[in-house]
Amino acid sequence: MLVTLKEVLEKAEEGNYAVGAFNCPTLESARAALEAAEELQVPVILSHAEVHFEINPLEIMGPILVNLAQRASVPVVVHLDHGSSIVNVKKAIGIGFTSVMIDASHMNYEDNVNTVIEVVEYARKHNVSVEAELGMMTSSGIGGEETRKGEHFNDDVTDYYTDPLVAKDFVEKTDIDGLAASFGTVHGIYINEPNLDFKRLSDIYNNIKRPVVMHGGSGLSEEEYIKAINNGVRKINYYSYSAKAGAIAVKEYCGKKEDIFFHDLTVVAKNAMKEDIKNAMKIFANKTGVAN
Ligand SMILES: [Zn+2]
Repeated sequence: MLVTLKEVLEKAEEGNYAVGAFNCPTLESARAALEAAEELQVPVILSHAEVHFEINPLEIMGPILVNLAQRASVPVVVHLDHGSSIVNVKKAIGIGFTSVMIDASHMNYEDNVNTVIEVVEYARKHNVSVEAELGMMTSSGIGGEETRKGEHFNDDVTDYYTDPLVAKDFVEKTDIDGLAASFGTVHGIYINEPNLDFKRLSDIYNNIKRPVVMHGGSGLSEEEYIKAINNGVRKINYYSYSAKAGAIAVKEYCGKKEDIFFHDLTVVAKNAMKEDIKNAMKIFANKTGVAN
């Protein structure tokens, strides 16, 4: 069933777990995430990121995601990831998305606040949830396509981390449903060991009293996920590592088979992505008993 982000995050808040958000630039990635969710009977967020519109445009992928969500046996949110403009937010809402992220984090603070307020006003009228970003999530430069292309920072990344006091003001002014906060994760494949600032995360969560969204959420250890969840992360954007798992499986398949047909590759990729996503979902459910 198609539900809003707000609904699933409220339940996640009560149950102290996180809901996985998976980018769906292709039908296979969408079906991988959905089949994983249905097999485990957990809620799921199917995201379409603006930078993936060149793979499959919003007008093509959007209605497919909404349709898949409506027919699903689990709660499904259809979410616009890293929306850059009110125009695209309105388009997504028009197609039936139940959640949008407006990413105005590159703007100055006042403009970010005002842009988010405008989106929240519009989205509320259509019963759609809103996620916004404060601070900046950097990209490792490998994968991480869900963020703005070529966004790669070489200087001190902690300069871009979210300030817990500013986060409080930001959420009070905008009344968003979830805050994408920066505390050490990066988009894409990790080149260096991730070094997460859990103190900052817990300060942000205690200040905003709303769900925190983790971007760049694939490639962390089970302990890191659990610690993040126990400190207020309720939505985890997970993509690069499952996309990689799909590609590795295809590569192996191609190495073994002589006659290769593209349609078979889509099945191989989907199944490998599904297994990777299932493993992530089991951790996000926060029932594995890994110590905080
Ligand atoms: Zn992101």
